[in-house]
Amino acid sequence: MQGSSGLTSEDQRRTQTAVLGAVDSQEALVLPLEAIELNTFRRQYAGQTFWCGSWLGGCGRQLTTKLYVDRVCHFAHHADADTARRPCARRARDVTSADHLYVKAAAEGLLEAQHLVGEVVCSEPGPAAAGSLVQLQLGDGGRLTIHMNAAVPPDWKSPQTAGRIVVEASVPVDRRTLQRLPYVHRIRCDSHGTSRRVLIGTQTARGTQWFRPEQCTLDPAGWLPPR
Ligand SMILES: [Zn+2]
Repeated sequence: MQGSSGLTSEDQRRTQTAVLGAVDSQEALVLPLEAIELNTFRRQYAGQTFWCGSWLGGCGRQLTTKLYVDRVCHFAHHADADTARRPCARRARDVTSADHLYVKAAAEGLLEAQHLVGEVVCSEPGPAAAGSLVQLQLGDGGRLTIHMNAAVPPDWKSPQTAGRIVVEASVPVDRRTLQRLPYVHRIRCDSHGTSRRVLIGTQTARGTQWFRPEQCTLDPAGWLPPR
């Protein structure tokens, strides 16, 4: 069905994120909103392909970039001859919708920078969105679980795991937990050009202090903020 803007109904909900090169890629992209930035983006990624990828909960089709001067630019699905195909049911499409992939990449960067053996894994799409959990498993048995989605709440009750939980900035933590624990690890992504910059926070009863990942250290107890 074509809407008044010439877009199919599935593309009227603007899609700002994609993955690069293949449907199962974990290399995320955020499309710039402004036409002038989109021209630069198109030059930067000339000859490469963008996908409504499986790690974004997408339909697996290829995406193209739509340039507008009177409203925000966004990705749109390639025109599809298969009219029997069901419209894309992807739920999250805004600039935050690939944040789990940026968080995974940042955690991998931290492992590499600290010469640590380990692995970072996004949870598979299922009842909860892909990447609702990002798990960092260190070679020495240490583990961090990053909760990106309030629909998969952390278990704060276990003293062994509470220090190894990181929660995305918008995931609520109840006041009792905040009072009981010395601090809660937070994570958030901010827009930075056509990418997302990951910040790690330490929340106490007094508020949250934010740091760049490279300012923090990883050890079996979790991440440690700068002293
Ligand atoms: Zn799609």
